[in-house]
Amino acid sequence: MILDLKNIYKTYQQGRIPVPVLKDVSLTVEKGDYLAIMGPSGSGKTTLMNIIGCLDKATSGSYSLAGNDITGMSENRLSDVRLNSIGFVFQSFNLLAKQSALENVALPLLYAGVKPRKRRELARAALEKVGLGDRVSFKPTQLSGGQCQRVAIARAIVNNPDLLLADEPTGALDSESGKAVMELFKTLNDEGMTILMITHDQKVANHAKRVKYIFDGMLSDVGFEERAEMAAQAASEWSRDAADAADAPKEEKKEAADGQQ
Ligand code: ADP
Ligand code: MG
Repeated sequence: MILDLKNIYKTYQQGRIPVPVLKDVSLTVEKGDYLAIMGPSGSGKTTLMNIIGCLDKATSGSYSLAGNDITGMSENRLSDVRLNSIGFVFQSFNLLAKQSALENVALPLLYAGVKPRKRRELARAALEKVGLGDRVSFKPTQLSGGQCQRVAIARAIVNNPDLLLADEPTGALDSESGKAVMELFKTLNDEGMTILMITHDQKVANHAKRVKYIFDGMLSDVGFEERAEMAAQAASEWSRDAADAADAPKEEKKEAADGQQ
């Protein structure tokens, strides 16, 4: 199992007022999985991603990643985990503007202490994998949004992480570039990469192998439309019951009247 979250709560402290955001979130992700977590704005998606990505700590609950218990780890060990086990893809790419695609992709390798020649070799291979072998020396300003996101994906996979985490990876892209990013994720997943993607877009979520939903900080298998359907059905059952209940006395009276004849 790559990821195991148990009973995670996250409460922010806004001055003296506690703001509960994540409420009893439990989630497991197996190796090779491709999971989308969907939810409306403000539902706690980024908060959850930050905890899974070891960028922030849960208020309570337990978390293990690739067999390591994250819950009690020091900041140093957490940064090792981030470097070696997780690849991040953000909505806004988060590339260094003055560095080339190759330098951007090589950056995690630099932090990991990989030698320069090996860094260039691995970074070039990652850029080739995302279809940008002919753009290695281009800077982010010389690339389209879709290409920037593919550079960011190359950077995320260059360390061969246990988990690829993506927060709204197509949020800043036009639909064509978004589609290309989704195709790339599919290829990476087919090759064995475990992916957890966060989105508010059902069309994007549909690319994953499975989808979970987050509402008001609670994780669920039931989506928005299904919920609306269930509510509509419950309402119609309720009104039928109410109508039956209203009819019942009449029936009784009728039976009584029938009995008198
Ligand atoms: P999403 O990514 O689904 O839009 P977020 O995880 O960013 O949602 O935010 C969920 C809720 O947590 C929001 O109501 C937001 O105001 C609150 N929140 C997020 N970060 C903080 C913070 N650092 N301090 C206080 N509240 C926060
Ligand atoms: Mg968010």
